[in-house]
Amino acid sequence: MTLAKFSGTGMTSDRTRARMVESLRARGIRNEAVLKVMSEVPRHVFVDEALQDRAYEVDKALPIGFGQTISTPEIVAIMSELLLARPGGPPAKVLEIGTGCGYQTAILGKLAKDVYTVERIAPLMDKARRTLRDLRYYNVIFKHADGHFGYAEGGPYEGIIMTAAAGQIPAELTAQLAFGGRMVLPVGVEQQQLYVIDRTETGLVQNVVHDVRFVPLVPGTV
Ligand code: SAH
Repeated sequence: MTLAKFSGTGMTSDRTRARMVESLRARGIRNEAVLKVMSEVPRHVFVDEALQDRAYEVDKALPIGFGQTISTPEIVAIMSELLLARPGGPPAKVLEIGTGCGYQTAILGKLAKDVYTVERIAPLMDKARRTLRDLRYYNVIFKHADGHFGYAEGGPYEGIIMTAAAGQIPAELTAQLAFGGRMVLPVGVEQQQLYVIDRTETGLVQNVVHDVRFVPLVPGTV
């Protein structure tokens, strides 16, 4: 049975999501697993009601409160695709830094076996936790903390994704990457770039993918 609250109508329907997926394909997203889960997860329930009819625009970052934004569908797709393309295959255990509204978390929750997610703003994390509980996710563990330090108790991780930009790559995070693991994160202050870091037998291998724009990684918790 589909819960009425999540089924959506008009601008929030399955058909609208299918259109979003076609736009993602047109922009070069190729991973079928990513496209499939993005056609399933109701992005509109992660944003305020007043913004729901814009939830499926591929390049729109919408406000989620506390000065933060939900990442665009396009960047969620790009980062998920990069994470899944690691040499060892899709990661089973993933760490996400910057839960925000929990949409990227929900996508990862369908692509990985276990997801650990860290958020520094308590009310955002609580709301994301409620949304994912309502959507019946049972494989996501939340932590209210400064993500600079990762989530050592859950590690090591085959995949780490960061959805806020750090000035430099946090060493505590690469330390929690399993051998063969991959980290995808924006790095930079004024100019930001998406980095892919693989932990190989011989050390960390770093690739810069392209320019991006994220909110900054901020120290401490509130
Ligand atoms: N993937 C989220 C992105 C939200 S924006 C979404 O689509 O909703 C980035 C998030 O990172 C914000 O919620 C912000 O509070 C959080 N963040 C910033 N610095 C952080 C830190 N040091 N530790 C954990 N979370 C952090």
